Amino acid sequence: MLVIFRLAEEKNNLRIETQFINAPFLRSRSGLKFPQRTPKNRNLWYLHPQLHQQSTVPMVKDFLVFLDAGHGALDAAGNYVTAPSKQHKHSKGEFHKDGWFYEGVFNRTVTNLVARKLRDLSIPYYIVSHEYVDISLHYRVDVANWLAKKVKKSLYISNHANAGGGSARGFEIFTSPGRTNSDKVAELHWNNVKDTVGDRISRYRSDTSDGDHDKEARFFVLTRTSMPAILVEHLFFDNYEDALLLMDDEIVERFAEAQVRTIIEAQGVL
Ligand SMILES: [Zn+2]
Repeated sequence: MLVIFRLAEEKNNLRIETQFINAPFLRSRSGLKFPQRTPKNRNLWYLHPQLHQQSTVPMVKDFLVFLDAGHGALDAAGNYVTAPSKQHKHSKGEFHKDGWFYEGVFNRTVTNLVARKLRDLSIPYYIVSHEYVDISLHYRVDVANWLAKKVKKSLYISNHANAGGGSARGFEIFTSPGRTNSDKVAELHWNNVKDTVGDRISRYRSDTSDGDHDKEARFFVLTRTSMPAILVEHLFFDNYEDALLLMDDEIVERFAEAQVRTIIEAQGVL
């Protein structure tokens, strides 16, 4: 079932029309399922009713979380906009479409689930990635850095799934090189994922040579953001077993819950 909200102008007033139709959904078993835009409904302004509610809350001044879904998703015609990168065709299983696992679709599923949980807790967040366009990292970071100047504390979380040639498995977190507040957040998240996901996943991949569990890399969203930032690699989507876990609603729920706990705890250490 798809709920369509359509704005209509009527004697200088805006009227919101709602329409309930059966529509195809992304073949994701994980988290929230977003309706796929089709050529037929692309001009309609549709929004997920749980995620996008009219808000009268003034802009937050104390703490703001920036959520980044990593890569683009499926466009109006159902094409994966990040192709040929960040996708893998498995020899068996359905995954997102005909055996294809689209990393951007997974990233969006977990990001939107985190967003819904934050909204339910009245924790302010801002999604810097687009609903499906593979928008430039430069733009996302620019959006976050501009808003960060308006608030006291902020945090940037980039959600991904990994690729490693098929045999690599497991979970890892990246921060920028050196000791910063990002490492404190990454350590919180490491512990929260261990608590919520536990041994349901096969492996926790860490680099403990510098005293914490995160790995360090000069990724754009980690080095160019003005606020503490972590990049989470949730398992390997090109490994069949890990990809099945990434399609598992309960695993995704647990990853999202861990992220919410990290966001709550991060406010105390930043
Ligand atoms: Zn990625």
